[in-house]
Amino acid sequence: NKKKLIAGNWKMNGSLAANEALLKALIAGAANVACDVAVAVPTPYLAQVQALTAGTVIAVAAQDVSSQEAGAYTGEVSVAMLKDFGVRYVLVGHSERRQYHGETDVVVAEKAQRALAAGVTPVVCVGETLQEREAGLTEAVVKRQLAAVIHLNGHCISEIVVAYEPVWAIGTGRTASPEQAQAVHAVLRTQLAAASEHADRIRLLYGGSMNAANAAQLLAQPDIDGGLVGGASLKAPDFLQIIAAAR
Ligand code: 13P
Repeated sequence: NKKKLIAGNWKMNGSLAANEALLKALIAGAANVACDVAVAVPTPYLAQVQALTAGTVIAVAAQDVSSQEAGAYTGEVSVAMLKDFGVRYVLVGHSERRQYHGETDVVVAEKAQRALAAGVTPVVCVGETLQEREAGLTEAVVKRQLAAVIHLNGHCISEIVVAYEPVWAIGTGRTASPEQAQAVHAVLRTQLAAASEHADRIRLLYGGSMNAANAAQLLAQPDIDGGLVGGASLKAPDFLQIIAAAR
């Protein structure tokens, strides 16, 4: 049975002082955890977070990576650079990247490919908007988003992590119900199983207003293998309760 993964996504939040306080509290509270734990931090803080988490249960994650290897791409960060700072996971295709930075399914798939080739685990984010859900398009949208990644990454696909994050649940306090989330996770699992005989070992995370109160129910679903946590990952007691719920 695979270990669950609880990943915090700090988004564009933090400071040297706030990060240190948060990480110290997490490290103190997360010594004997049953799951894998990661924090996806803003790029300028990678060195700080690497130093503070060295030798602890907390793995370093990045929030994005370039689809290019190196060169004249001003403002971009390569996967080799992330590796220099001990990064183990990188989010690709977060809905905020798709929405505000125009990332297409193909670009997201290329980012996943860069990460996989470098031995960094891509956390591929998929999810429908409210409009798409209300139009009955949820399955079609998440399958299209995941298909692009499967198409480009073929036999490596069992090495990815997938995060289902319904856009309408992100930062809204409106969580998908455990049944709603499980239903989509089951669709994703079936799609992955058609592409890989090892699909059962791919971790499928749920994200979208996961918090200390709702985590246990979500994580009890058969195809929910962890969480991608935004707001609640910025508060040590809340994030620690979510971690404790993942067993
Ligand atoms: P919230 O937990 O703040 O809803 O954010 C979820 C998310 O987008 C994690 O990547």
